[in-house]
Amino acid sequence: MPNITHDIAVVGAGIIGVACALRLARQGLQVVVIDPQEPGHGASFGNAGHLATEQVFPIADLSILKRLPAMLMDPMGPLRLDWKYLPCALPWFTRLLLNLRSAPFQRTVAGLRALNESSLEAWRRLLDDIRRLDLLKVEGSLLVFERQDSRPALEALQRRMQQQQVPVDWWQAGAVHETAPQLSEKIQGGLFFPNTGHFIDPYRVVFELASAAKACGVQFVKQQVEGGQLQEGGVSLITENGTLSARQVLIACGAHSAKLTAALTGKRVPLDTERGYHLMLPQEHDRLPFPVTSLERKFIMTPMSEGLRLAGTVEFAGLKAPPTMARAWQLHRLSKGLFREELNVEAATPWMGFRPSLPDSLPVIDSVCDGKVLLAFGHQHLGLTQAAVTAEMVGGMVSPAMRSESCHLPSLKRYRLDRF
Ligand SMILES: Cc1cc2nc3c(=O)[nH]c(=O)nc-3n(C[C@H](O)[C@H](O)[C@H](O)COP(=O)(O)OP(=O)(O)OC[C@H]3O[C@@H](n4cnc5c(N)ncnc54)[C@H](O)[C@@H]3O)c2cc1C
Repeated sequence: MPNITHDIAVVGAGIIGVACALRLARQGLQVVVIDPQEPGHGASFGNAGHLATEQVFPIADLSILKRLPAMLMDPMGPLRLDWKYLPCALPWFTRLLLNLRSAPFQRTVAGLRALNESSLEAWRRLLDDIRRLDLLKVEGSLLVFERQDSRPALEALQRRMQQQQVPVDWWQAGAVHETAPQLSEKIQGGLFFPNTGHFIDPYRVVFELASAAKACGVQFVKQQVEGGQLQEGGVSLITENGTLSARQVLIACGAHSAKLTAALTGKRVPLDTERGYHLMLPQEHDRLPFPVTSLERKFIMTPMSEGLRLAGTVEFAGLKAPPTMARAWQLHRLSKGLFREELNVEAATPWMGFRPSLPDSLPVIDSVCDGKVLLAFGHQHLGLTQAAVTAEMVGGMVSPAMRSESCHLPSLKRYRLDRF
């Protein structure tokens, strides 16, 4: 086996890989992060910045069946399935539907709750460690509705969330308009989630974590990992420029993690991507105090340091098809009528990213192949929310000494690879 140069090679410099790399370096390990892009240029670049601890339900419910025809016919709808991608997506959709049966559904909710309930504190510890607590605002978020006939659905959602101990308050229209006076008078009220937050610049968060990691000795190598092999005493990774060996590898390349996982573990993980879009409005500051999601229009608006970010929509079209940027611009059309005064789109920038999604809505966080292969991917719509807690869990997997310190963390059993 070629010379082992590092304790751990982290493949992927998104929010998950970088948070884990910093954690592992803080634990005294020699870490290298390998990614063909600069840190934070995948899905972690352009997400909605919402620390969405209230999202404890799977990514879809049975109504997806009713919506399937619209998904195929309407290229601008909130959910889109590309016809050409249908044969690839069908096995994933079948698994998604099977996971909506009672027992797997309950497992998913328990798994998401366990991660989300630890997320906010884990983020505070991580940002405090790098002295950048200013990047996170914990001021809550709001889900608003406009039509009276939406009220029963929102009331039902509130009851379901309360059953899961999600802190949630019903806000009448008056409370909404007092707190977010720029929203249209058509807003009838909404659900306020006090234990949620938002990042004022999600890319900056990755950048700052990567800078702290570099200062702690983590090496960043700009290469694509093409494959890998288990070896005596470690793992070798094949990159464009040769081979790199480490005692352990952490696969954290988001929606692109399936191929390397199969190469190293022999396991085919049903990972797909829910492509999402944003439209960044640099002229829009001070419109909202915190993230606001529209129940009927199905997108989120987050106030950030660089303006207002409109984000959301789900598109099933795989990793290779070019972005449908009209979907990003559609977010502006969707915002029309939500504010008293229309949003200014001057110098707006569209973006698309790949959410890494597994059909049971839970990530894989695991240690396999006698601890040589660590896995941290598949965080779907919640990768930003769950990155800090994932890093603590990975830290606990690697150093047995940390395990007792991490007894407050979710048990790994719900996130194992062998559930597939
Ligand atoms: C529109 C949108 C809005 C979202 N909003 C939110 C939100 O508000 N809150 C929230 O919690 N989450 C949100 N998410 C989800 C969140 O962004 C993702 O779950 C998270 O960014 C995933 O992080 P990651 O590190 O796993 O993947 P990524 O950030 O995609 O990083 C993966 C990295 O792996 C690298 N890579 C890929 N293949 C290889 C290879 N072969 N070799 C080396 N490197 C490789 C890529 O270059 C990339 O840098 C949103 C996502 C989208 C698209």
